[in-house]
Amino acid sequence: MRLRNVTGSREMIADNDFVIHEPAEMKGKWSEFFGNDNPLRVEIGMGKGRFIMTLAEQNPDVNYIGIEKYSTVLLRALQKMEVNPLPNVRFIRMDAEEICDVFAEGEVDRIYLNFSDPWPKDRHAKRRLPSQAFLARYDVILKKDGVVEFKTDNRDLFDFAEEELQGTKWKEDAVTYDLHNNEEMVRGNVMTEYEEKFSSMGNPICKYIISR
Ligand code: SAM
Repeated sequence: MRLRNVTGSREMIADNDFVIHEPAEMKGKWSEFFGNDNPLRVEIGMGKGRFIMTLAEQNPDVNYIGIEKYSTVLLRALQKMEVNPLPNVRFIRMDAEEICDVFAEGEVDRIYLNFSDPWPKDRHAKRRLPSQAFLARYDVILKKDGVVEFKTDNRDLFDFAEEELQGTKWKEDAVTYDLHNNEEMVRGNVMTEYEEKFSSMGNPICKYIISR
């Protein structure tokens, strides 16, 4: 049953115009693809896509790419796009480990990480999206004044993310351990699916914005 579902979602994605099927061919050519010079912002691990699609609707002068590893999850975002197609957002099904194959040096303006998987075992630390291994990739594709924004309710993961900044050129421009009660940082906050779920359970949301 599970396998059939996965096969079905892969096929549906293969036919979908909102998905970039050969993303490596777009490297350095995203402005050309969107037909404008608007900033390019990327959400890694976008899940069902509410966050990126809300931002895209609010900011028609910004281009957005949502990256998601699993086709079954990405399919949910595609179903929303069918109802409300947005010209400034596209999706890629890939593992973000390959992100440098898809975006050229300095091509990206901002990266969003929302409620990233914690990978609690030490031997999987490099898979965590705010790890130094990933920060090194973000360093390549982000423009000079580009930023990474990270939100999570997982305090262990957030502590790890902050520790990973030590000894690097990344610095925190802003940080909170209770986003929804931080008047300044919560302004304009767009809730993700996970954020709604975990904040409704009373979990405080941590957020940092980093640059280098
Ligand atoms: N960002 C969404 C939210 O806040 O509601 C979804 C959060 S969910 C916990 C994490 C998502 O990131 C999952 O859909 C997972 O498949 C995706 N993901 C995790 N690691 C990834 C990677 N290396 N590349 C692409 N997607 C990844």
